Amino acid sequence: MPEENGHMIQPFRNLCFILKQPQDTEFSERQIPKISTPHDVLIAVNYTGICGSDVHYWEHGAIGHFAVKDPMVLGHESAGTVVRVGSAVKSLAAGDKVAIEPGYPCRRCGDCLAGRYNLCPDIIFAATPPNDGTLAGFWVAPDDFCYKLPDHVSLQQGALIEPLAVAVHIVKQANISPGASVVVMGAGPVGLLCAAVARCFGAFTVVSVDITPSKLDLAKAMGATHTYLSSGISAEENAKALREQCNLENGADVVVEASGAESSIQASLHVVKVGGTFIQGGMGRADITFPIMSMCQKEISARGSFRYGPGDFELAVGLVSNGSVDVQKLVTGVVSFKRAEEAFKMAKSGEAVKILIAGPNEAMHV
Ligand SMILES: [Zn+2]
Ligand SMILES: [Zn+2]
Repeated sequence: MPEENGHMIQPFRNLCFILKQPQDTEFSERQIPKISTPHDVLIAVNYTGICGSDVHYWEHGAIGHFAVKDPMVLGHESAGTVVRVGSAVKSLAAGDKVAIEPGYPCRRCGDCLAGRYNLCPDIIFAATPPNDGTLAGFWVAPDDFCYKLPDHVSLQQGALIEPLAVAVHIVKQANISPGASVVVMGAGPVGLLCAAVARCFGAFTVVSVDITPSKLDLAKAMGATHTYLSSGISAEENAKALREQCNLENGADVVVEASGAESSIQASLHVVKVGGTFIQGGMGRADITFPIMSMCQKEISARGSFRYGPGDFELAVGLVSNGSVDVQKLVTGVVSFKRAEEAFKMAKSGEAVKILIAGPNEAMHV
C-alpha cells in the first residue's frame, strides 16, 4: 500500500465515468494522471457537482460546436484531497482539502496577460471536448488552480465553489453599488448563487425570478429579499408586474440574467432602469430576438460573463468560509459514484437543484 506523508492512500484506483455517445456511459479504469511539472498537484477526487453543461453533453453529445467525438470523462465541479505535490509546490501538502479550478489557460497569450485568462483561446477546460473531466479517481492541477479549504469547510461545500465562482464572476461584471437593486433572472444553482453574492456585494433589494415556486423559496433562504413567479404572459407584462410587486417602479439598477431563456432575456431589458446595467450570464440558445430598442433608448450598459477569472475562486472560498453564502442549501442529494448515471437522470429532471456525486475516492480524505 503506498503511503504519502503518513496518509494511507488506498485503494489506488482511477475509476472514471465516461460518456461514449449521447446517453451512453461506462465506467473504466484509467491510468492515474502523472505529476508532469514541479507545480503540479495530484488530487484524489472526493465530490463532484453535476452542472447543466455536463447534463447537456450527456444528453446530446455536444454544446454548440463542442462535440464529443471520442469517449470523454464528464464533470468539472470537484473538490478533493491532495495526495502528492510537485517539487516546487509550497502552498499545499498531502492531506489538504482543495476546491479545484477546472480550466487551465496558456498564461502567455494577450488575454491571459491582460488578466482575462477565462477567455484564453488555448484554455484546457475539464469535460469540454476533447478534454476529459473530473469524474475520475484522480486529477492533476497546477498548484495555483487548487484552493485550500479551511478545516471548517467541508468537501461537499468545496464541490460547490466552482458554481459559486461563476456567480462571483457574473456579479462582479455589474459593479454593484451599496444599496443597489438587483433582479436575478433564473433560480437554478448559478441564479441562486448570484442572488446570494449580490447581497454580499451590498445590494439592498435582490429579486429572484423563476417559473418554479419551490426554487423561489430556496432563493429567499439564500438571501433574496423578494421573489417573482414568472408566468406565461409576455415579457413586457412580466416586467411590469415584477416592477409593481417588488417596489421597483423605476426599474432595477442591475439585472443579472442567469437562465438563458429568450423570454427572460427580453423581460430583463424591460425590468432594468434607465441608465442601468444588464449582465448576461445564462447560456441558452445561441441566437434570440433581443429588445435592442429598449437598450438604446434607456442607455443600458450590457455585458456578458463567461466562467471565472483572477480572484473569483479565492473570493468564493472566502464567502463560504465566513458564512456569507450557505452553498450546502443547494444540495438536493448525494449519489455514490457507481450510481453516476442515475445522478445525471436526477439532474436532468429539473426538480433537483444540485446533485453531488460522491467519489470514487470519497473515503480518501483524512
Ligand atoms: Zn459548471
Ligand atoms: Zn492564454
